Amino acid sequence: MRTKIVAGNWKMNKTSAEGAALIAGIRKELGDGKLPVEVVVCPPFTGLDAAAKALAGSKIGLGAQNMHFEAPGAFTGEVCAEMLKALCVQYVILGHSERRTFFGETDAIVNRKTKMALAAGLTPIVCVGETLAEREANKTEKVVTTQVRDSLAGLGADLAKVVVAYEPVWAIGTGKTASPAQAQEVHALIRRVLAVISDGQTATGIRIQYGGSMKPENAKELMSQPDIDGGLIGGAALKADAFAAIVRGAL
Ligand code: PEP
Repeated sequence: MRTKIVAGNWKMNKTSAEGAALIAGIRKELGDGKLPVEVVVCPPFTGLDAAAKALAGSKIGLGAQNMHFEAPGAFTGEVCAEMLKALCVQYVILGHSERRTFFGETDAIVNRKTKMALAAGLTPIVCVGETLAEREANKTEKVVTTQVRDSLAGLGADLAKVVVAYEPVWAIGTGKTASPAQAQEVHALIRRVLAVISDGQTATGIRIQYGGSMKPENAKELMSQPDIDGGLIGGAALKADAFAAIVRGAL
């Protein structure tokens, strides 16, 4: 049985104070008791410390949106895994399509980051997904297979600790959601690729989130698909009531 995981990717939104207020709102909605699914919020770096404090006493986890693959050193402007750990961060989103598109992140870079995150004891949420042009050219299978295989190469037994997020680029922030059937088809493909790079049992245990315009209205149906184990939420994660409604949709 895979425990579903719903994570909010705040992207470059919310000051520290705004983030703390959003967390207070989410706690009010969900309560501080045991949560039925894993819930994570991922503020920008500048909001992590305030978010950690705002989360004290709650079961909601804390994630970052990126990190560098190197250990501490001369890498101006970068943030390493050790710094995230020191702020009580437990998860890190890696290889988001915005990082791949605007900041040139390749599968090889995502792979190095994933290895470093795992070595530091962070849970990587590794994003993959095809663009609209790739989907229309019938390249979804090839693109997603390559991203999964290369971003997650050489992890050994640690592969079991990774969360994969399937985020079709054409659905991110566009209001266009993959249909449950479209998403399920790619999630099943990802699980097959995971089985090829590890084994059937490991692949069966790995959580695969869907991301791309998930909202309260479509969350339940998407997360009811057999291979969809939660959501990575952008826009709708910026409002406490919408985010909490999506979490409830995972039940
Ligand atoms: C995301 O950026 O990870 C995402 C899924 O965004 P949105 O929900 O806004 O499409």
